[in-house]
Amino acid sequence: MLRSIGPQACDEPRAESATTVLNACDGAPANIQALTPFRAGWNQRDLERKLGIENSVNLASNENALGCSPAVTRALRTQTELVSRYPDSAGQALKQALHKFYGVDTDRIILGNGSNDVLDLLARTFLRPGTSALHSQYGFAVYPLVARASGAESIEVTAKNFGHDASAMVAAIRSDTRLVFIANPNNPTGTLLEPELVVRVLERVPRHVLVVLDEAYDEFLPAAQRSAAHRYLDKYPNLIVVRTFSKAYGLAGLRVGYAFANPCVCDLVNRVRQPFNVNAPAQAAAVAALSDQDFIKRSAELVRDGMRQVERGLGRLGLEHIPSAGNFLSFRVPHADTIFQHMLQQGVIVQPLVNYGMANHLRVSIGLESQNQRFLSALSAALTVSN
Ligand code: PMP
Repeated sequence: MLRSIGPQACDEPRAESATTVLNACDGAPANIQALTPFRAGWNQRDLERKLGIENSVNLASNENALGCSPAVTRALRTQTELVSRYPDSAGQALKQALHKFYGVDTDRIILGNGSNDVLDLLARTFLRPGTSALHSQYGFAVYPLVARASGAESIEVTAKNFGHDASAMVAAIRSDTRLVFIANPNNPTGTLLEPELVVRVLERVPRHVLVVLDEAYDEFLPAAQRSAAHRYLDKYPNLIVVRTFSKAYGLAGLRVGYAFANPCVCDLVNRVRQPFNVNAPAQAAAVAALSDQDFIKRSAELVRDGMRQVERGLGRLGLEHIPSAGNFLSFRVPHADTIFQHMLQQGVIVQPLVNYGMANHLRVSIGLESQNQRFLSALSAALTVSN
């Protein structure tokens, strides 16, 4: 008789191999068993169902409150035939569009199913047991996850004022270190490492250590502060610049990220990469998104205005925040978990930061003016209730 395999299957001992592998899950390597799953934000539909409401506001995942460019919706509507065909494995049209926009040659471009995929590919290509990767305290949670999943040691370097300490990061490099992850701006703190300090890191790291500069939020910076790191690739062959279409371009649901790196790095990553890792509608949408820089300008302006609105509102509530260069802001609040729950009850979703060792902070994404106001009102009500 066939027995169904339910969620309990992992708890059932297998008698015939009890001395070696006790059950299916015990067979996974210790580094996999020790992983803490990434904590994604609350699902908006689940919350609405639970509360019986229809107007919740999700400010937990640093998405673009304007949605995406009309050029993207047009591309998706008119290219429906893409759904039934395999995508271009090499992503040539998108690489050409990126080349045209940034001036980086196509053999220096890696495409990923979101930039998380690029980060994972880099870890799988360059890390293994016996190697290590560095990231900053309060750095983006995916760095230690991909490093450990590859069997490497993940080393956390103490932050300075919630941001990267460039000198400490360089000093922490060991002979077995292969990757140094730097998010600029960083999520969840929003801190920015000045270009001079990025260069200082690049000048000081040994050439066999790859510096992964994750610029997921670069498009939100004022024009004069936007990163030019992709122009340093010749000078620093160990530099990898990672970017995404999820944030300012508003394509988080389609999953498109990319990296600029030296051709030998791209070639190695290409051997590891799944051949169709970026789907066809996503590639077409990314090309269309890149063509509408006016949308990026409007998105950055919305965030700049919204940031001021939220900063002022937090100030009125007597709450401290960490100045942010991203499209989100982390603020300090007593009893953050209780406040988070009270806000959920009002249909406002923000991000708790307990997994980042910031149990007294919450992170809010900047939304439309009305959404920011709704956030501030819900926070104010939550503070009153919890006092
Ligand atoms: N890097 C940073 C710093 C991020 O905050 C995020 C998204 N939260 C990512 C990378 C990954 O984004 P995506 O996979 O959607 O490109």
